[in-house]
Amino acid sequence: MDFELSEGHKMIRAMTREFADKVIAPKAEEVERTGNYPYDIMDKMADLGMMGIPFSEEYGGGGGDWVGMSLCIEEISRADAGLGALLDVALLAAHEIEVFGTEEQKRKWLTPLAKGKKIGAFALTEPDAGSDAASIKCTATLDGNEWVINGTKQFITDIGLDNALLAIVAAVSGKSKQGKSIINTFIVPKGTPGFTVGKSYDKIGLHSSSTNEVFFEDCRIPRDYILGEEGRGLAQHLAALQMGRICVAAIGVGMAQACLDASLAYARQRIQFGRPIINFQGISFKLADMAVVIELGRLMYLKAAWLKDNNLPYTFEASAAKLYASEMAERVASDAVQIHGGYGYMREYAVSRYYTQVKLMQIIEGTSEVQRIVITRTL
Ligand SMILES: Cc1cc2nc3c(=O)[nH]c(=O)nc-3n(C[C@H](O)[C@H](O)[C@H](O)COP(=O)(O)OP(=O)(O)OC[C@H]3O[C@@H](n4cnc5c(N)ncnc54)[C@H](O)[C@@H]3O)c2cc1C
Repeated sequence: MDFELSEGHKMIRAMTREFADKVIAPKAEEVERTGNYPYDIMDKMADLGMMGIPFSEEYGGGGGDWVGMSLCIEEISRADAGLGALLDVALLAAHEIEVFGTEEQKRKWLTPLAKGKKIGAFALTEPDAGSDAASIKCTATLDGNEWVINGTKQFITDIGLDNALLAIVAAVSGKSKQGKSIINTFIVPKGTPGFTVGKSYDKIGLHSSSTNEVFFEDCRIPRDYILGEEGRGLAQHLAALQMGRICVAAIGVGMAQACLDASLAYARQRIQFGRPIINFQGISFKLADMAVVIELGRLMYLKAAWLKDNNLPYTFEASAAKLYASEMAERVASDAVQIHGGYGYMREYAVSRYYTQVKLMQIIEGTSEVQRIVITRTL
């Protein structure tokens, strides 16, 4: 076994870390407080090729792999988890087109997404269909040479941003003989008449990531905007989500690493009872435990990404990485606030931001309970 990162991977990690420290981190608190999206930073990320590392150069990507992409996501999330979440969802949309799109669709839609100046959204969840994704009600009916989409999607990341190009939308196009919904996925360009981006949600954290309602009212798209095989839409969406779970794990590891870094620095300089608090075993043991679980989370997402890059099954590993890293990150963020004492509860200290943001990682792209269901199925 070789645990050494390649020179290329090390370069990606070093470049992203430097960019995250110098450009993203200084603005992260302001972005989280105001919710004003850092388009300038995203533009720079696109220029540096960070938005499409694993996609083929033929379609505007970096010609890299998912190990490199996840390392990049970890480093970005260490500075701003909102940007990490943006990237994760943008990748979901682009990846689904890469895997299931026709040559023409890839040229037209994947290319701008892989270049990163435009981003895509992934629209599956509805008011009455979250974990039970097969129960969606949004419909897509064929009318001549057009699909007509009607319905509501909720909690949709990225679509509210000015540079959102499209959403990959799951909708029901009929019933099978067994009475099950036939679900297809569609490329729906933002701005198509009948496609409305609704209110932005008032979240408890992660204001640096945009989340909106989306409405489709007689929204007409060309017949060939269907993505992949007819009737296989849900399976395609779920396959894309499997990759997304690696990204969410990397976000969790990045947030946890940021909490450890801040806690270590704080514990070394905060004096109580005449000595730095790191000298108290109650604090130093917490730091040691944090370092151990973070490394385990990192190894798990890297293994899942490596399996994916090598075209090997990775269902168990992706779900295990997501489940473990998201729950681990919440515990680490809580310990980080504890180590900071009262200061940890103040916005001025980055750990307070991570503490409110981190819970989301256990909910998006399949809750912890759903991951356990997926994992059990693989046993
Ligand atoms: C900020 C944010 C961004 C999001 N971005 C997107 C996005 O871009 N695109 C998108 O499509 N969706 C997005 N989502 C939706 C997200 O994926 C769902 O919220 C998630 O899948 C859970 O669905 P739900 O909220 O309907 O909860 P529910 O499915 O109603 O679950 C409620 C609770 O019941 C549990 N539960 C449900 N079924 C079972 C079961 N069989 N066994 C055990 N427990 C169960 C769940 O784990 C959970 O604890 C986002 C959500 C948020 C909050």
